[in-house]
Amino acid sequence: MSRFRCVRYRLYPTRKQANLMGSALEGCRFVYNKEVEMCRNAYETCGRIFDRKDIDEYCEYVLKLEHPELSRIHPDCISEVSHRVGYAFRKFESEIRGGQSPQLPAFRRSERYASFTFTKYGRDIRLIGNRLRISSIGDVKCVVHRSFEGRPISCTISRSQTGKWFATFSCIQNEMPRMPSAGKGPVGIDLGLYNLAAFSDGTVYDNTKLFDRTASEMAKIQRKMSECDPDSDESRKYKRRLSHLLEHYNNKMRDEMHKRSTEIVRSYSIIILEDISVKELIASYHTSAGRRSQYASAWKILVGMIEYKAEESGVQVIFVDPRNTSQICSRCGFYVRKNLGVRVHSCPACGLQIDRDINAAINILNRGLGMQASSSGKGNSQFF
Ligand SMILES: [Zn+2]
Repeated sequence: MSRFRCVRYRLYPTRKQANLMGSALEGCRFVYNKEVEMCRNAYETCGRIFDRKDIDEYCEYVLKLEHPELSRIHPDCISEVSHRVGYAFRKFESEIRGGQSPQLPAFRRSERYASFTFTKYGRDIRLIGNRLRISSIGDVKCVVHRSFEGRPISCTISRSQTGKWFATFSCIQNEMPRMPSAGKGPVGIDLGLYNLAAFSDGTVYDNTKLFDRTASEMAKIQRKMSECDPDSDESRKYKRRLSHLLEHYNNKMRDEMHKRSTEIVRSYSIIILEDISVKELIASYHTSAGRRSQYASAWKILVGMIEYKAEESGVQVIFVDPRNTSQICSRCGFYVRKNLGVRVHSCPACGLQIDRDINAAINILNRGLGMQASSSGKGNSQFF
């Protein structure tokens, strides 16, 4: 069985290399917009949706002849643009078939077009030590902080909002690497708005400092931005600062989630989590949009990482319905109503006093183990 893994390295191009990469990016965006224009015209005039082959032909026999300067860009990168356009229109078509009324794929401004892709790793783009050799651009300094997982097949060069360059390699793995799993037993995890995660064994991950600090800093900058003229240098300065902050936050958060998810997968043999989509719905009644979206994206990233790492190390993951897990008493099942501000679960029926989130985590654990027991009872052995 094979699977894909991506690994991203930071690039440190010289000024000349950065200019070359910038103009390759700009060229690809030009092709993208031209192809979108052609496809939109075709759709608007005769209702036809072009496929990848039509777009490729238009690019090869019209665009490249009209714009000989495109020959400076690697043909793989240009043909991958046709793939992106074809994909956007295929998606558009399937949304129409599904009865929705989608918008036609849009033209991209330069801020919204951030990458170009070499579809074949090897001759024209390859990593040599800590240099990335890119055809017609040169050997770009590259920080290889970890090695490939598998065999690289393609490479995407991208520029972040703040002007940093990255190379993302898509790798194919044939054999599954196994992480050693100590496996302490099953655990239930409650994803929270107060603590990032609470565990049925009493462990708590408190990541709120990271979220809160970023949120308040962002609010401060946004407030200042709203006070000045949107076209002024000052406003642009704040905008730049905001994107730096956001990038820094995202990097830190992903890094944190990588560490946490590895730790979790190594520590337990069965991991019981909440169904995130339902959880988000519940959270939407209780919190402000900004804070909620920060949490929701952190939850999604953490759960996604746990899922794939668990699969690689043969650890089982079970998803349960999160409804009422914070209200029900984990010892006696009594329904103890409490709003989000109440941090301690204290049960009038059995006297249990316990952190609210840990109580929820124990309920999640019990629910998951119940599901596992009932599915094995029915003779369904897919988990074992
Ligand atoms: Zn109780």
